[in-house]
Amino acid sequence: MGAVTLLPAARRDNGWFETLPEVPPAAPLVGAVDADVVVVGAGFTGLAAARRLGELRPDARILLLEAGRIGNGAAGRSSGFGIDHAHNVRSEGFADAAEYEKQQIALNRAGLAYLEEAVTTHGIDCDWSWAGKVHAACTPRGAADLEHFTASLDRIDEPYEVLDADAMADRLGIDHYTHGVHTPGTALMQPAALCRGLAAAMPANVVVHEETPVTWMDAGRPHELWTDGGNVRTPEVLLANNGYLAGFGYYRHHLIPVVTWGSMTRPLTDDEMAAIGGPRTWGVIPAAPSGTTVRRLADGRILVRNVYSYSRHSLADGRRRQRAGRSHRRAFEARFPMLAHVPFEYTWGGPLSMARNGEPVFGRLDDGVHAAGVHNGTGLSRGIVCGKLVAEMMCGQGSDLLDAMVARGRPNRNVPDPILGWGVDLYAQRLRLRSGREM
Ligand SMILES: Cc1cc2nc3c(=O)[nH]c(=O)nc-3n(C[C@H](O)[C@H](O)[C@H](O)COP(=O)(O)OP(=O)(O)OC[C@H]3O[C@@H](n4cnc5c(N)ncnc54)[C@H](O)[C@@H]3O)c2cc1C
Repeated sequence: MGAVTLLPAARRDNGWFETLPEVPPAAPLVGAVDADVVVVGAGFTGLAAARRLGELRPDARILLLEAGRIGNGAAGRSSGFGIDHAHNVRSEGFADAAEYEKQQIALNRAGLAYLEEAVTTHGIDCDWSWAGKVHAACTPRGAADLEHFTASLDRIDEPYEVLDADAMADRLGIDHYTHGVHTPGTALMQPAALCRGLAAAMPANVVVHEETPVTWMDAGRPHELWTDGGNVRTPEVLLANNGYLAGFGYYRHHLIPVVTWGSMTRPLTDDEMAAIGGPRTWGVIPAAPSGTTVRRLADGRILVRNVYSYSRHSLADGRRRQRAGRSHRRAFEARFPMLAHVPFEYTWGGPLSMARNGEPVFGRLDDGVHAAGVHNGTGLSRGIVCGKLVAEMMCGQGSDLLDAMVARGRPNRNVPDPILGWGVDLYAQRLRLRSGREM
């Protein structure tokens, strides 16, 4: 090991983070310290792992190091759907292996249960609600996708409610969608508030340092991690930094870095709210593979998310931002024509890491080095459960769920750049075209 070759960029454009009350100044790591475990990265995975390590090893000194501000990384930039089962409703294989799917659902539900316990115990104010999610379609192709989805849900005995156009209009207050399927097991929340709340409620033996990117690692045992202002010696490192894992030299040719984008309006006025059926909250997942996610938020704002692009350095600026903003505008005006005058206050991109074969990084990488990441789409619930389970693995605590994660495959190798980038962008474009009006 040596220099960390890929680091996240700090941007203050994330609507979830910017609309929180002022956060206190960061307390970066300063000077030389020792720790029993260092967790690198405070997204969903790192926050859950640090929490679990603190619970299981109350006498250990655990450090959680985050490059930026907690709640402003990908976790706090997400759309805040804590999803229990796969929302890839097009997947040909979904429910073909029913037992496997049930196990994946059990994993996600265990993540949500661990999260809800923390939210409840510590009274974390993050608009948590078990609202479920509505899979929505406005085209015949989208409707066919939903039929495939419900057939898959039948095969794994999962409950759902089918909604026709009238029921969708009743529930959402807009008449854009012609078909819908509601599934109850998803929790919605304000993701940046959730992340900050989790960080503030860490067990007493977990020390959190924000604005502390790890820029160099001397692998040892003990390992030595260097930051701008300090260094830490530790026998155990947990890399919970998702795609930035490649910057530490692991899975460099296996991960697919992409950026996806969200925009958030200003709060609606009372009249504007009345135009879409008064104050209520909901979350819509598109039936189409590259359609638009929409949330109506507790504070009266509306969020839309769409567009994926390949980006090895999480380039979320300039042309890409403007293109995403235009795409969000079109999606917003199609769904809320009566609110066409309402501007977006924020547009932001966030980095994701995918694997071609859909498999995660999980478990031991080297002597005293563990990792968990690459959650392919349901990173909120899956990140939480993987963080918890990898912490339990490090503490020698076994379970069926841990066995299930250990038994999963690992990301497969990619073709080199620039071919990978072209391929991913072409694929994203194909999905966009297929999505048509669902976008
Ligand atoms: C716009 C958008 C919408 C999304 N919506 C949803 C959704 O609704 N539901 C869902 O389940 N998923 C969603 N996702 C995906 C989800 O955000 C990710 O899967 C999830 O954040 C992964 O969690 P993580 O903790 O593994 O990684 P991350 O959240 O990426 O956390 C990794 C952390 O490591 C830090 N880090 C990296 N390198 C270093 C270093 N060298 N030193 C210190 N710290 C470092 C980063 O700053 C980062 O905070 C969305 C993503 C985006 C971008």
